[in-house]
Amino acid sequence: MLDRIKTEEVVYNLQVSIHTQVGMMKRALITGITGQDGSYLADLLLTQGYRVFGLVRRSSSGNVDRISHLSGTVEILSGDLLDQCSLMDAIAHAQPDEIYNLASQSYIPTSWTQPALTAEYTAIGVSRLLESIRRCKPDARFYQASSSEVFGQPDESPQTERTAFRPRNPYGVAKAYAHWMTVNYRQQYDLYACCGITYTHESPRRGSEFVFRKVTRAAAEIKLGLATGVKLGNLDAERDWCYAGDAVRAMWMMMQQEQADDYVIASGETHSVRELVECAFGCVDLDWEQYVSIDPTFYRPDESIKLIGKIDKIRHGLNWEPQYSFEHLVELMVDHDLKALHDRSL
Ligand code: NAP
Repeated sequence: MLDRIKTEEVVYNLQVSIHTQVGMMKRALITGITGQDGSYLADLLLTQGYRVFGLVRRSSSGNVDRISHLSGTVEILSGDLLDQCSLMDAIAHAQPDEIYNLASQSYIPTSWTQPALTAEYTAIGVSRLLESIRRCKPDARFYQASSSEVFGQPDESPQTERTAFRPRNPYGVAKAYAHWMTVNYRQQYDLYACCGITYTHESPRRGSEFVFRKVTRAAAEIKLGLATGVKLGNLDAERDWCYAGDAVRAMWMMMQQEQADDYVIASGETHSVRELVECAFGCVDLDWEQYVSIDPTFYRPDESIKLIGKIDKIRHGLNWEPQYSFEHLVELMVDHDLKALHDRSL
C-alpha cells in the first residue's frame, strides 16, 4: 500500500514539474470552494501546480473560513449557481482547463424544508453550468459531484455505477437530475464530463450538523469539561464513511483520464454510529455509555437499506483507494476537535 502511495506521489510531482517547466500551468475553476470538499480540492490542486479559481456567492459575512489559509493563492470570482451570467463570466475570466462543480445545497433535512431551492441549486444549477461550459469553453473538463443519495432505496447492496437510481429525498432527486444532465451533455455534445458518485466523506472541515462531526466534537467537548452529554438517533444506522482528502484525490484522478467516465467513490465498508461513538470516546478514554442518550427525533425514516459503495471500477481502472481507515479518520477528527476547542479556550 505504501509503495502504491509513493508511486502516485512520484507521478503527481513529475506532472507538476513538467507543467512548470514548459510553462503550462493548468487552470481549474472550483464551485463550492468554501465548502469541505472545495477547500481540500483547492489544497490538492495548488500542490499539483494549478492556478486555482474559486466561485464564491455573495454573503454578508464573507463565509471563507475553510479557505482562509489559502488567501493569496486562489483567485476568488463572484458567482452563483442561480445566475447564468455570473457562471459564464467566471468561465470566460478563468479560462479553466478543468471545472469541478462541488457547489450544492448539500444537507438532506433542508432539502425537505426547502425542496424548490434545493432543486434550483443542486439540479438546475448544473444545467446552467453545463450550458455555460458548452457556450464559453467546450474543451474544459467537467466534474460533477454526484451522491450515493441517488440510489436512495437501492435494489442491490453494495451499489455500483450500474445500480438503478431510486432517490428518496429531494436532495437525491436533484442530484439524480444533475447526474443525468452531465451524462447527456457528454453524449450529446462530446464534452469531457464525468460524475463521481461519492458516499459520505468526513474531515475536520465537515459541518457540525453531520453525525460524524457531531460525535467527534462531543467526545472532545466532554473530555474538556465543556459539555456533559450528547443526544443521538439510531446507533445501529450504518454508513460508508471515507476521508474527504481521499475523495478529492479521486475527483482529480477522474479528470486526468483519456476518456470521461463515472465512478463510485467510497470506502467500500460500512460502520455503525455505535462503532463511531465507541471509537471516538475511546480516543479520549471515556465510557460512551455514560454520556450518550437517544433522541428518536434524530431517527431517519428508513434505515433498512444499506448504502455501501462497490469500488472495483475506480480501484482497478484508476488505481485509487482510500488511504485513511475508519479508525484513523475518527482519531484525526477527535484530535483536531480537542486542539481547536483547547486553543479557543485560551
Ligand atoms: P458543503 O460543505 O455543504 O459545501 C457546499 C458548497 O456549495 C459551499 O461552498 C456553498 O457555498 C456552495 N453553494 C451552495 N449554494 C450555492 C450557490 N447557489 N452558488 C454557488 N455556490 C453555492 O458540501 P461538501 O461536503 O463540500 O460537498 C461537496 C459536494 O459533494 C456537494 O455537491 C455535495 O452535495 C456532494 N456530496 C458530498 C458528500 C459528503 O459527504 N460531503 C457526499 C456526497 C455528495 P457557501 O459557503 O456560500 O454556503
